[in-house]
Amino acid sequence: MKSIWTDTAEFTERKPLHGNITVQVAVIGGGIAGILIAWQLKQRGLDVVILEEERICTGQTGCTTAKITCQHNLIYDRLIRQFGRERARLYAKANLAAVGEYEKLIRERKIDCDFSRQTSWLFSTEKVDGVEREAGAARLLGINAEYTTYTGLPFKVKGAVKFEQQAQFHPLKFLKVLAAELTIYEHTRVISLEGGNVIRGRTAEKTSLITDKGVVTASQVVFACHYPFVNFPGLYFARLHQERSYVVALENARMPEGIYLGVDGDKFSLRKAGDLTLLGGCSHRTGGNRGGGEYDVLLEKAQQWFPGSREVKRWSAQDCMSLDGIPYIGRFAASKPHWYVATGFNKWGMTSAMVASGIIPDLICGTENVYAPVFSPQRFNLNASAGNLLCNLGISSAGLVKGAIAGLNTKGKVTKRCSHLGCKLEWNADENTWECPCHGSCFADDGTKLEGPAQTGIRL
Ligand SMILES: Cc1cc2nc3c(=O)[nH]c(=O)nc-3n(C[C@H](O)[C@H](O)[C@H](O)COP(=O)(O)OP(=O)(O)OC[C@H]3O[C@@H](n4cnc5c(N)ncnc54)[C@H](O)[C@@H]3O)c2cc1C
Repeated sequence: MKSIWTDTAEFTERKPLHGNITVQVAVIGGGIAGILIAWQLKQRGLDVVILEEERICTGQTGCTTAKITCQHNLIYDRLIRQFGRERARLYAKANLAAVGEYEKLIRERKIDCDFSRQTSWLFSTEKVDGVEREAGAARLLGINAEYTTYTGLPFKVKGAVKFEQQAQFHPLKFLKVLAAELTIYEHTRVISLEGGNVIRGRTAEKTSLITDKGVVTASQVVFACHYPFVNFPGLYFARLHQERSYVVALENARMPEGIYLGVDGDKFSLRKAGDLTLLGGCSHRTGGNRGGGEYDVLLEKAQQWFPGSREVKRWSAQDCMSLDGIPYIGRFAASKPHWYVATGFNKWGMTSAMVASGIIPDLICGTENVYAPVFSPQRFNLNASAGNLLCNLGISSAGLVKGAIAGLNTKGKVTKRCSHLGCKLEWNADENTWECPCHGSCFADDGTKLEGPAQTGIRL
């Protein structure tokens, strides 16, 4: 899918892998996570390659809204309650540090990517209690947060919380500069992995990554492919679901500076990008859309908030949501000590990918990382995870994952089955795609695979 970012940043095409190679680290996926992690590994002197099945930055990273902030919706009050103040503080600190890392890197390398510091706002037009609590929780964790009723937006809010010194940028102009320094094989899909097992309880054997263009033998493997396509070990299919959101780029909208997220129903997101205003929202579990009309909702809101504005571009994308709202960054599974993963960014992949680019190279190099336990994929918190876990397994009293259990799909169309784990697909009338309500794979109307974890298309 095309966005204002993909329209305005051109990447030199890289050659596919040709034959077999041996490297220290193979990174699967050339989105923001893969590029940042590979780049940091290269700075530490490791021999690293990226294997990308399409072109780099054409996945979710090409369709983001690129707000760089540690303000991740209403999160800190919940994290304190579910994980305690110390873990919540480390989560905030890691993401706040990530904002600073972007600025440092962009300054040092003189990267021209429209980076600017911005105030980040959460607002509600309906009620004050959630944002007020969030302001208190954030302050408790050391964030420069303030509760207010004035946002500068051209409409009234009931309450808002603002975090100073967050940021925004053009993600692809930034990644293009880092990618130019890396060895990348495009049009090279990793199909399966062999090896990587523990030998005699101590060292791990190397891993063979079987691609459609040759075999890569690697001492260490990083899954930065958005949704890990390996089901066992790791069980990520039970630990992740995906949510799709929609974006319209508007001209002629009188939008103030700042990056904004509404916490009410459709969770509208706002930022400027040059002369344009990006209005996003209408998020739903992939495969659980309301039967079309998501862009209409955005355009109606645009007319209400910015009368006279005009749509110049639209797109949608989806992100992986973890069970407890914290990304999975670290060792892939206990039985594969040299496999690593960065996923479950919960729509906050800009700072999360930067956090991952600190944790994973530290784990690979044997350096202590104070944030690693917070993001470890091996954690499990029943309190924070149970509801989502049941949904991901297709068990939901509310019938949320209808596609997994119903006879016909919910739009009354003839059932199509996902090529990943066989769930019944739902039709998305806004994008003309088939979507899996269990794990979020998407297919074009001719059956071509658009989004994983499915590895292949479907037969119609
Ligand atoms: C509408 C929307 C708005 C967002 N806005 C923000 C925001 O303002 N701020 C923020 O912080 N976050 C935001 N996010 C989240 C953020 O965009 C994502 O978390 C992030 O881009 C994910 O990056 P990634 O590298 O994990 O995945 P991707 O960019 O999808 O990269 C994964 C890559 O792996 C490749 N791949 C997959 N399988 C294989 C395989 N088998 N072999 C080889 N390659 C493979 C894919 O082709 C792809 O290029 C938003 C998300 C959405 C949906």
